[in-house]
Amino acid sequence: MTERVYLDWNATAPLRPQARAALVAALDVCGNPSSVHAEGRAARRLVEDAREHVAALVGAAPKNVVFTSGGTEANMLALSPAITAGTETAPRDRLLVSAIEHPSVLVGGRFPPSAVERLPVASDGRNDLGALQERLAALAAEGGRPLISIMLANNETGVIQPVSRAAAIVHAAGGLLHVDAVQAAGKIPCDIKLMGADLLTLSGHKIGAPKGVGALIKATDAVHLAGPLIKGGGQERGARAGTENVPGIVGFAAAAAAALESLPQGRARMAALRDRLEAGLKAASPSATIFGATVERLPNTTLVSAPGMKAETVVIALDLDGVAASSGAACSSGKVAPSHVLAAMSVPTDLARGAVRVSLGATTSESDIDRFLSAWIKVSRTLLKERDGIAA
Ligand code: PLP
Repeated sequence: MTERVYLDWNATAPLRPQARAALVAALDVCGNPSSVHAEGRAARRLVEDAREHVAALVGAAPKNVVFTSGGTEANMLALSPAITAGTETAPRDRLLVSAIEHPSVLVGGRFPPSAVERLPVASDGRNDLGALQERLAALAAEGGRPLISIMLANNETGVIQPVSRAAAIVHAAGGLLHVDAVQAAGKIPCDIKLMGADLLTLSGHKIGAPKGVGALIKATDAVHLAGPLIKGGGQERGARAGTENVPGIVGFAAAAAAALESLPQGRARMAALRDRLEAGLKAASPSATIFGATVERLPNTTLVSAPGMKAETVVIALDLDGVAASSGAACSSGKVAPSHVLAAMSVPTDLARGAVRVSLGATTSESDIDRFLSAWIKVSRTLLKERDGIAA
């Protein structure tokens, strides 16, 4: 049997060997990091060393890293009216989120639904900074105190958002900025201070760590988180109760260190593979649309749709041919509603329904891309013949 080709790295990345080795070693450290004895102190050391590696991936101070169960929890922890900066005590009264955010941001955290607004994006997939500026000016005139959440790169299109320019606009209007960097981390440079974020979310399993671990990271000590979501202990400096997931955290740190080390070469390598993939797609399906292709994207992500093809059918046919890709966001796979990201980009519903996401990673090879392309050619010929009523 031929080997499978995994091209769904934005859904989750295979475990990095470094993460596996660190995780397995940590399984034998039995202490509770809160215990004062030698075993407890050894576990505490592992967690604090891990905090340094995760902080280094985004240029933060280790003490400003709060470990969570993943990106979803980190987003929920960040998005609260009670988030404050400096000596301020008044709560944030409005949450502005870009319309292309992950569902864990779109739901609005701990804000009442009436206080959550969506910010528009342009048809190229980037946030509309003019609209952001206008809305913030209107809120400032009313004495509003907004929190804004904009992702660094979109999980479906891979489009990189103008986050540092957004940060300047947000801060000039007295707002605070949260950035979901779950998809960008490990693929492009991700420095919390350079991008101007006050808070940043990471997820371990997107960078080759085990699933079920992530982090919310503060830019400085001057940012004060709201109360914990999980209460009942003083762990994570009071930000998240519960005995730490030591093996998961250690695996996360090893993946973060490996991702940081391989970033420059990995980025160029993935971009070359992505270009090979897109050249092949264009040759095979000249009328196909690659979303976000006119602007800067992650080096590993292609979202493509060809007229007359339904994404679910393509994904199933590719799977039967040994290739794993996804239709739109993996988190929403299984439901047939067209992607909210493409809807926000004003993509016609028919074209959006055909959108197939192909996402590459550290171990993707040229032969994986070629296997994908031959499977794509096969499935597109069959589907188009069916559409045109010709027996395949
Ligand atoms: N944010 C983005 C942009 C994502 O793509 C995802 C997962 O797909 C998440 C957040 C959620 O992260 P996790 O799976 O760790 O909860």
